[in-house]
Amino acid sequence: MNHSPISIIGGGIAGLATAIAAARSGRSATIYEKAKSFEPVGAGLQLGPNAVRALKAIGAWDAVEPITSSPPAICMRDGKSGKLLKHISLGKTFEQRFGQAYRVALRADLHKALLAVASQHSAIEIKLGKDISVEDLDHSNPIVAADGVNSKTRTQYFQSNAAITTTDVAYRALFPKPEINGVDMDCVNLWLCPQSHVVHYPVGQDQKLNIVAITQSALPQTHYANSAGSLRQIINATLDWKEWPLAYVAPLPAWTKGNVTLVGDSAHGTLPYLAQGAAMALEDAAAFAATNFNPEKFFELRAARCTKLHNASLRAGKIYHLVGAAAKARNLALAVMPERSFLAGLNWLYAGA
Ligand SMILES: Cc1cc2nc3c(=O)[nH]c(=O)nc-3n(C[C@H](O)[C@H](O)[C@H](O)COP(=O)(O)OP(=O)(O)OC[C@H]3O[C@@H](n4cnc5c(N)ncnc54)[C@H](O)[C@@H]3O)c2cc1C
Repeated sequence: MNHSPISIIGGGIAGLATAIAAARSGRSATIYEKAKSFEPVGAGLQLGPNAVRALKAIGAWDAVEPITSSPPAICMRDGKSGKLLKHISLGKTFEQRFGQAYRVALRADLHKALLAVASQHSAIEIKLGKDISVEDLDHSNPIVAADGVNSKTRTQYFQSNAAITTTDVAYRALFPKPEINGVDMDCVNLWLCPQSHVVHYPVGQDQKLNIVAITQSALPQTHYANSAGSLRQIINATLDWKEWPLAYVAPLPAWTKGNVTLVGDSAHGTLPYLAQGAAMALEDAAAFAATNFNPEKFFELRAARCTKLHNASLRAGKIYHLVGAAAKARNLALAVMPERSFLAGLNWLYAGA
């Protein structure tokens, strides 16, 4: 077994998880992170059963589980009428079907938990305040670029695609959870609106409401002014929105050049419509370790799945954002579809990896 040490550019979710997976398989890893310190930034993210499976595979689940919350259900709602279109229980049946639980967490909490696991491994060194280019590193050992969707490694060293920014803008906010008549605010609520959608669920120790409102750039208060009363109430409960331009990486023909391999968002940053950014980064770490950090086998194992997810996310966005008669047909289809059939459509995502 080749136990050469690994240099990792980027100490986000993918970088930390890869280092943990490497240390677990007997390698040492050095993470170079450009931030001078890790600040508790970001809002909520979803950890579907595939993310939980990956966290278990890299031995980080015990540290992560306590910071997660278990939403009781996913509720899909029509943003114009407020009507509940589909209720997917995330209880025992869901867990048995996909083999793992469905959780949500603050990104900052997930990052902190992974950092704690990484810090316990003497084989992992973390160097902060290091804005690294591949050229700065020793190429005789493997280099992993986990430098995010706007990866300098991908654009400069691979001379490959810059991330594509979409016309959709995500507005994020985190604020005390309001009580809204007729809406179970503990669920992952997904509101389908013309050319837009809203997702919210409570996260973190104090169970604040994490909300992401997608618009075509208008502020949520303006964009959702003609929505269902309950959705308007939720949107109007805060003015403190943070804009997050949505960008993705078009599928790449390769993730490795020489001794350098892209992982996480730098390799396959995707739109957040299936809430899989962190999950894919975690799956990468588990899969890379499972191939004993063999770049070709890693690409073989992961690329088709990530491309499938990329396409499915684009498709999900189109379906969420339908207007007029097409939106009515979608709503009807969702209402009549048995829960079992709905879940069967998610099997490839949640049960496989
Ligand atoms: C600050 C922040 C907040 C986020 N908040 C959310 C959120 O609330 N909800 C959500 O769903 N997703 C959020 N994301 C995105 C989400 O974390 C990722 O989509 C997913 O986890 C994949 O992670 P990644 O490690 O591939 O990329 P990222 O999480 O983007 O991590 C990349 C890391 O690489 C570092 N880096 C970049 N370039 C260099 C360089 N040249 N040298 C050294 N280090 C470098 C960055 O500082 C960053 O720490 C956030 C990302 C960041 C960076």
